[in-house]
Amino acid sequence: MEIPNGLGKRIGIFGGTFDPVHNGHLGAAKAVKQAFGLDSILFIPASVPPHKKDRSISPIQDRIAMLECAVSLYPGFFVSSIEARRPGPSYSIDTLKGLRKRLAAQCTIFFIIGLDAFVEIASWKQYNLLLDEAHFVVISREEYGLESLGDVMRQHFSCYAYSDDERSWTMGGERGMIYPFFLEPIHVSSTEVRRLLLANASIGEMVPSCVEEYIRDNRLFGDGH
Ligand code: ATP
Ligand code: MG
Repeated sequence: MEIPNGLGKRIGIFGGTFDPVHNGHLGAAKAVKQAFGLDSILFIPASVPPHKKDRSISPIQDRIAMLECAVSLYPGFFVSSIEARRPGPSYSIDTLKGLRKRLAAQCTIFFIIGLDAFVEIASWKQYNLLLDEAHFVVISREEYGLESLGDVMRQHFSCYAYSDDERSWTMGGERGMIYPFFLEPIHVSSTEVRRLLLANASIGEMVPSCVEEYIRDNRLFGDGH
């Protein structure tokens, strides 16, 4: 469904390739939902990720099916096909504007993103306008401590200053805030899951069992992928 019912007022948006979704994504989303008192988390798989042109990606229908079974295990988690339905590259600014238009005006959107992705933000389409649509929650990653967020802020969001009271970067007015969020690293990536599957090795507890079953039933990530 493009925009499911029952999202509530404080909505987390978690975009990615999700090829496949894994327990790192799910654990991170759960921690952010709790820490920010969110009503829901909407996972939005990119149909054509602008930043991942170097390998073939599983069909969007398969990535959505894996997400659907994963989110059914977590209260308040949903999947949106909003990017799947849009032709061409999936740009977050288009997605956020589309969501803003269709969600009630009193909804607050928190755009959840790993710091490994946020350090590339200046290469995103109209990145400056993203903060007109949503707050950002930037999650620390193994390889990126939160101190590197300061560097990105000074370089690309020089109008923002850190507020101890708000525990976020803010520039006042109507624009969104950028909240640093420390997450104890969850050592799993889609790349690692795919690598292990290709080597016929066990992926242990890296993905929910329904996702692993879907992968095996549909022979995803075998030779040639
Ligand atoms: P790939 O290995 O193919 O790059 P990925 O595991 O990084 O895949 P993506 O779909 O690229 O997954 O990531 C979507 C979002 O999830 C990004 O913002 C990324 O920072 C975040 N993310 C990915 N893995 C983790 C993890 N283990 N813990 C917290 N956040 C994660
Ligand atoms: Mg990645």
